[in-house]
Amino acid sequence: MPTTKRQLEPVPFTHITFADGFWAPRLELNRTVTIPHIYRQCESTGRIGAFDLNFERPMPSPIVLIFQDSDPAKWIEAASYSLATHPDPELAAWVDLVAEKIIHAQQPDGYLNTHFTVTQPEMRWRNLRDWHELYCAGHLIEGAVAHYQATGQRKLLDALCRYADHIDATFGREPGKKRGYCGHPEIELALVKLYHATQNPRYLKLATYFIDERGRQPHYFDIEARERGEDPAQFWAKSYEYCQAHVPIREQTQVVGHAVRAMYLLSAVADLAHENDDPTLLETAERLWRHLVTRRMYLTGGIGAARQNEGFTQDYDLPDESAYAETCATIALIQWNHRLLQFSGEGKYADIMERALFNGFLSGISLDGAHFFYENPLASAGHHHRQGWFTCPCCPPNIARTLASLGGYFYSTGPNDIWVHLYAQGTAKMQVNGREAHLRQTTNYPWDGDVELQVGTDSPQRFTLHLRLPAWCERWHISVNGEQLSGNNELSTESGYIHLTREWNQGDVVNYRMEMPIRVIWAHPAVRDLQGRVALERGPLVYCLEGTDHPGTILDRIAIDPHNASNEFQVEHDEMGLGGVSVLRGKGTAVDENGWEDTLYRNQQPLSKPIDLTAIPYYAWDNRAPGQMRIWMQARGG
Ligand SMILES: [Zn+2]
Repeated sequence: MPTTKRQLEPVPFTHITFADGFWAPRLELNRTVTIPHIYRQCESTGRIGAFDLNFERPMPSPIVLIFQDSDPAKWIEAASYSLATHPDPELAAWVDLVAEKIIHAQQPDGYLNTHFTVTQPEMRWRNLRDWHELYCAGHLIEGAVAHYQATGQRKLLDALCRYADHIDATFGREPGKKRGYCGHPEIELALVKLYHATQNPRYLKLATYFIDERGRQPHYFDIEARERGEDPAQFWAKSYEYCQAHVPIREQTQVVGHAVRAMYLLSAVADLAHENDDPTLLETAERLWRHLVTRRMYLTGGIGAARQNEGFTQDYDLPDESAYAETCATIALIQWNHRLLQFSGEGKYADIMERALFNGFLSGISLDGAHFFYENPLASAGHHHRQGWFTCPCCPPNIARTLASLGGYFYSTGPNDIWVHLYAQGTAKMQVNGREAHLRQTTNYPWDGDVELQVGTDSPQRFTLHLRLPAWCERWHISVNGEQLSGNNELSTESGYIHLTREWNQGDVVNYRMEMPIRVIWAHPAVRDLQGRVALERGPLVYCLEGTDHPGTILDRIAIDPHNASNEFQVEHDEMGLGGVSVLRGKGTAVDENGWEDTLYRNQQPLSKPIDLTAIPYYAWDNRAPGQMRIWMQARGG
């Protein structure tokens, strides 16, 4: 029977350095601006002080305060990752302070949640469907594992182990336990991390229970609602699809409900497919992945079209201007695809990861590092802007922890293999076949597709270097030590990677050129909101128009010639603008409203006038004068 074990092992982010280029300044900004900014926000909003357990709060509390422990937890995780690569005494002192507070908030039985210790102790574990207790526990566990790995200190990890033990004693199929699981998945993937940090199989077993129990009948959320004296039919979200608990996970055929919940759950499903060598879970993940990427994902890697459920609606329902596309959902999409990529190194997962990273994720943070999008629409009439903080501030610390550990998405190793999934200037250190190897990337990616890779090895080593060939790349060239390679024995392309098998020597140089023309993109005919429209992409980047570059023009009225766009648009690198970007400059037309004064309808088509267009990378919008934005433009002609 074929194994469902992962064939690839990610190279940890601590073994990766970024130098100059695209990501290094962003990681530096995350360390020096974003992480301190989030700390101050958590502190000033009482989220850190809450662990002193002496706050007062009206009953019933707003739902966002019920899960406030998750914000400092994600901050600890982000700050710990940052400390792991950049020692910083001041940040270390803040981390220690928050860790101590969390530890002191722990109850004698191991329980650890500020809201249900102070405000509603009688409601502890009584509304798993809505109240995020296990979700908060999951984020605290992830924070504690990161803290332990960065500092070597066990104190926070030990506290969270006691909490996980308490949770394990409370939930399960054994007599006397509740057969519950959280309405907001998160603890499942956190328990797998805790298992790896401690080697205690109890945590893996508990994660497996949470995944397997979800959605079974009689339904736990019905049972606990009746125990609270409520009618389960009155559930505000109407359906347990909202929390992916409508049927057991292996019976689910569509990605439904709240997008972040779906992605965290499916990340744990991928983890457990590997840990338990369970093909039914891998099949489930692959089935739901296919459904998501062919029916319900935005061009930017944004997911979850609707505000109402912060999640999925119908197939092909992908309106651009009202897109919800929460930053956290795209982050979780990246995490899930990174996990799926490790099974057999299929480039389709890295393609989604890269699309999400450069577009729907990176749009979530401003170029100054201190303003954030919660929602990432693909068009705006001018009223959508990043904010310094939110009533529900889940996204900012999620962005910070992703950037602080970004290197972890770039490489993997196999038995005799090095996999390069993403391209950026910098170095990586890894073990192949028990021996150390290094790679140095020199590149301007994503501004062009030239990547030089230099191999470092103590003595000659035979292994396969797998270089990702992105789905957007139709023409490419590769040479090793100046010798051009084409389909010879050393070179095969399969599943989105170029495979170079040879004996590698110290200083060997691979020159890889991915041609990066401007591409015109259409949406599936069933996506009603995007018919007659096209978007521009170059390399991994989705481009958009912004109002500030087109004064006096309503962007919705702009059309381009899709059949001539690659001729009519030129790439122009602007080192000074928007942190250094390649913009696309070209020609289009804009509908003219002259002659329409006092006329609402008439029997003549409006005229169009030529207009010069500038498209910028989508991630960079809303960093200049506030205004309109649009990815999908009208397509002129047939
Ligand atoms: Zn969020």
